[in-house]
Amino acid sequence: MSDEKAIALTVLSKTVWSDTLFSFTTTRPEGFRFEAGQFVRLGVNPSELSANQGKSVPDEQIFRAYSVASSPYDEVLEFFSVVVPDGAFTSQLQHLQANDTLWLNPTPFGFLTLSRYQEPAPKTLWLLSTGTGLAPFLSMLQDLYTWENYQNIILVYSARTSRELAYQDKIRELGETFALMSEQAVNFKYIPIVTREAVDGCLQARIPTLIEQGELERAAGMALDTDSHVMLCGNPAMVDDTKEALKAKGLTMNRRGVGNIAVENYW
Ligand code: NAP
Repeated sequence: MSDEKAIALTVLSKTVWSDTLFSFTTTRPEGFRFEAGQFVRLGVNPSELSANQGKSVPDEQIFRAYSVASSPYDEVLEFFSVVVPDGAFTSQLQHLQANDTLWLNPTPFGFLTLSRYQEPAPKTLWLLSTGTGLAPFLSMLQDLYTWENYQNIILVYSARTSRELAYQDKIRELGETFALMSEQAVNFKYIPIVTREAVDGCLQARIPTLIEQGELERAAGMALDTDSHVMLCGNPAMVDDTKEALKAKGLTMNRRGVGNIAVENYW
């Protein structure tokens, strides 16, 4: 179905992380604003993709929600995608090439944003993600506001295999550059998890189990307690199970600005 408000974007670049994971950047329409952590509706018309030229494909816009992975201050937009088997949208999107056209509904959505929390913020922010649920946290980590509001920031990112851990260099670079830019000293800790193989430097269990066993706090050297903000994004089962593990430790869902936990299911 077409969207009359949609604005054309031009694809600028594409990064392939694995057989099923890729990222892409696009132009950013003038006047398009969003908050770090929000998502937008992105559209693709299969007949407009250069990879489909000469093929008989549908001539219609298909839209899906995507979190913005880039900074609210960046000149371009970036998105992180998984190829969903037999998915109408991502099976087209995976063939994207530079200069292809995508469509953006310019109304951003979602409350996985730091502004949802009442100030003053506690000292510690935990960002817990699986798979492409990393995207909103990449955006937050490129916003100086995040670094000026928390003294401790812990990013946890769980993937099945080491090949599926995307953005490793970028995460390390963000930790270094933004910690330096911030006016206060920030202790940034990145904890990668690979669940289906043993990898040096990575934990190897699901996030709720690591919370229950105290392993996540040990790895971070920081308490995951009621004096933390905790954001969850990714696999809906991870979000549910992690919420329960956190509630068992006394943390509460954030409502009207009060409480620790904010969540976004990713599909
Ligand atoms: P995934 O199954 O979500 O795995 C990513 C990480 O999450 C793994 O470390 C996995 O651990 C962990 N995980 C899974 N369930 C968990 C739970 N209950 N608690 C804690 N951690 C949990 O893998 P993915 O490749 O990101 O996504 C899987 C499939 O979901 C994709 O192939 C795609 O079809 C679909 N998907 C759809 C969308 C969409 O927008 N429609 C978006 C993303 C993904 P284990 O190795 O222990 O399972």
